[in-house]
Amino acid sequence: KRLSSAALRALFLEFFRENGHQVVASSSLVPGNDPTLLFTNAGMVQFKDVFLGKDKRSYNRAASSQRCVRAGGKHNDLENVGYTARHHTFFEMLGNFSFGDYFKKDAIRLAWDLVTGSRWLGIDPQKLMVTVYHTDDEAFDIWHKQVGLPADRIVRIGDKPGGGSDNFWQMGETGPCGPCTEIFYDHGAHIPGGPPGSPDADGDRWIEIWNLVFMQFDRSADGVLTPLPKPSVDTGMGLERTAAVMQGVHSNYEIDLFVNLIKAAAKVTNTADLSSNSLKVIADHIRACSFLIGDGVLPSNEGRGYVLRRIIRRAIRHGYQLGQTQPFFYSLVAALEAEMGEAFPELKAQRAHIERVLRQEEERFAETLTQGMSLLEGAIGDLKGKVIPGETVFRLYDTYGFPVDLTADIARERGLSIDEPGFESAMEAQRERARAASKFGVDLRSNVSIEGKTSFSGYEGLQDSATIVALLRG
Ligand code: ATP
Ligand code: MG
Ligand code: MG
Ligand code: MG
Repeated sequence: KRLSSAALRALFLEFFRENGHQVVASSSLVPGNDPTLLFTNAGMVQFKDVFLGKDKRSYNRAASSQRCVRAGGKHNDLENVGYTARHHTFFEMLGNFSFGDYFKKDAIRLAWDLVTGSRWLGIDPQKLMVTVYHTDDEAFDIWHKQVGLPADRIVRIGDKPGGGSDNFWQMGETGPCGPCTEIFYDHGAHIPGGPPGSPDADGDRWIEIWNLVFMQFDRSADGVLTPLPKPSVDTGMGLERTAAVMQGVHSNYEIDLFVNLIKAAAKVTNTADLSSNSLKVIADHIRACSFLIGDGVLPSNEGRGYVLRRIIRRAIRHGYQLGQTQPFFYSLVAALEAEMGEAFPELKAQRAHIERVLRQEEERFAETLTQGMSLLEGAIGDLKGKVIPGETVFRLYDTYGFPVDLTADIARERGLSIDEPGFESAMEAQRERARAASKFGVDLRSNVSIEGKTSFSGYEGLQDSATIVALLRG
């Protein structure tokens, strides 16, 4: 069976509507009432208070297709983009929810019917494996005895050495959480990677498509788990990953939606090679940036705005990598609207605004990008080992507006790394200088010139200027 991304989204929601669920629209990427969360990172976020018993809805079963961003906080996939077949910064999470209504048995049954039922996705059960939390005998038995899955297709997953488990889901450091069971699809022996639970499970052969969380606890800041008023269910199925299965392709970047975005990116950057990694990154990032701006985030130097700025600058740098020195990124909003505007009318409504914001950020970064890149190329040329010095990383950051992760991304492409502790101490030294300078009511940063030489004219006449100069020079 073949399904477009749009048809898959519709089918998922229809299945749960038929099974008594209220279909609820996606909420904003900026969580409305939750300072503990940077961005909406899962479908359950808009229902957090319902799980906690602090909020009530007129329904106790819901389904949604939620826009999510994972580029910071507990769930951060920014570094995975361009390196795995399955991770995006922005993606859609299809989900069904039970607020104290059904629990494990029905959640598993519904999921299995949707995934394998011939009226629905009709995926061959031979290609599926599931995991359960190691102590969850109840879930194991449901899969084995009621669904009839052979025991060797059900893997028990324990806790990681450093704490936490892939089968104990939590929204963030605090909030609703619980054990989970996950469904994996085998893309075939020609792809590197082992089955879930094996040492090389991190490959892209067995791909996790759906996570069913048995919401049972509220985690407090000190790590204590308090049982929720009622056991509930929260599930998340990756739209793009499942579309890949339904379209017979391995990578998310080969699904209908991405193929079109990648073509559009190739066109505006004059790139002939459609398999270029930079095109994938750009196609991923235009989604994240457009939806973030659409939800009211603006590029800035802190918080959500800085995450947005970092993603935009990464995309621009990948464009530069493809030879692009003029603004191009903003012009992809049109292609995005063509792909996703129907499902997300807010994208249509905001298009002009999104283009304007992106274009402004591109113009702003264009000049320092070129200068910074030549500084970096020089530094890499002079490099003795494989680590870019912290001083260089700091200069790129401070003078040329290169977010640290952007420099790390370039380093990684070339088999290099960055000296993070070195960067941190350069940063700390900068803070020291700023603190010292601010005692005298002057803004140090505006006195640091592009060349890294400092001009001290602003301090003339100050009693203690010699001390400041010493501090500035470190
Ligand atoms: P992975 O282990 O592959 O990183 P995850 O366990 O972190 O995924 P969950 O938190 O369980 O993911 O989210 C539920 C579902 O959302 C996943 O099963 C997957 O289908 C999808 N998903 C998660 N992260 C991403 C992402 N970065 N890009 C696309 N889909 C994702
Ligand atoms: Mg993950
Ligand atoms: Mg996982
Ligand atoms: Mg998971």
